[in-house]
Amino acid sequence: MIHVDTLNRTMVAAVLHGPGDVRLEEVPIPQIGPRDLLATVEAASIDFTDRKVYLRGSHPMIHIPGLFGHEWAGVVVARGEQANGRWQPGMRVAAANSAPCADPDPAARCRACRRDRQGMCERLLYNNGAFAPYIRIPERIAEVNVYELPAEVPFEEAALAEPLACVMHAVRRVPISDEDRVVVVGAGPIGLMFIAVLRHRYGRSIRLFSVDHHNDRLDLAKSFGADAAYNSTEGLGKARARAAWGVEGADVVIEAVGSVQAHQEALDLVDRGGMLVPFGGVATGTVLPLDLHRLHYEEIRIVPIYHHTPVDFAGAVQAIIRREIPVGRLITARLPLKELPRALEMVQARTTLRTILCPWS
Ligand SMILES: [Zn+2]
Repeated sequence: MIHVDTLNRTMVAAVLHGPGDVRLEEVPIPQIGPRDLLATVEAASIDFTDRKVYLRGSHPMIHIPGLFGHEWAGVVVARGEQANGRWQPGMRVAAANSAPCADPDPAARCRACRRDRQGMCERLLYNNGAFAPYIRIPERIAEVNVYELPAEVPFEEAALAEPLACVMHAVRRVPISDEDRVVVVGAGPIGLMFIAVLRHRYGRSIRLFSVDHHNDRLDLAKSFGADAAYNSTEGLGKARARAAWGVEGADVVIEAVGSVQAHQEALDLVDRGGMLVPFGGVATGTVLPLDLHRLHYEEIRIVPIYHHTPVDFAGAVQAIIRREIPVGRLITARLPLKELPRALEMVQARTTLRTILCPWS
């Protein structure tokens, strides 16, 4: 397969056309505006969000038909004449897939950004197209959400900065105290990142538990820092939790699966005065029944966290550069871009943690 036709300025990229319909097509290499950057994609990561977007054929962050893929790292190859002078061709970079409105004048920013809720920015700009040899970095992302990578940081690890930023966003905003019992429901790549980030941030001052339906992933959770890990295939009600942990519930329970069942499981595990953190995204219209009696009399807080902000993306890139979070251990497969359909199947079958797609191989 010829991936790049430099004479005709075309490349082969993944284009999402609708539910279950992604095609590898010859498309123009992205044109850049005067303040944009053009980069090669040296490594792209495929995640469960990509799988969901593929099946639903829609997501707030992507227009259909549109270029697909949002986690990547690569090399700057061209810059607009007026692009920020920090960025020069040849630089190895990690770039986020979004940027909030970032006007230097705070008064010109949207209400959410003025209230320091940048994840909820009314003009959040998303960027897709990582499943391709070249990607455009729009001006706004180039201004606030791109970082240079030292030579020793592998592109494939840097490609995981975006999901890590989402996890670090949650950990930054969820109040956790010494001696708290924290449960992460789901030991997929996101759940494992949560365990590693929580352990790194709080050390041994908290008790950290992992719950999943797959024993191999529970073993991994322990190796990422969980004090204990439990298979909840047959449910993990208060009685079993008490037997397993010596306590009935947890102070903070993070749902890192994205299903009603896992949300229910997570809610059941919240102790009196505790907190549920819905983190996994579900489809529009998905409903979770709530016991309002329990919610009130047990003062259960529900704190959903979506996406990331520039401070979280910066933190994630730094954590990867400093080797604080072992994201490389999550990479269990590497495939050429032309095997995107197989990569999507592997996500669904859970036969991989993270698959790296290589547009140039
Ligand atoms: Zn905004």
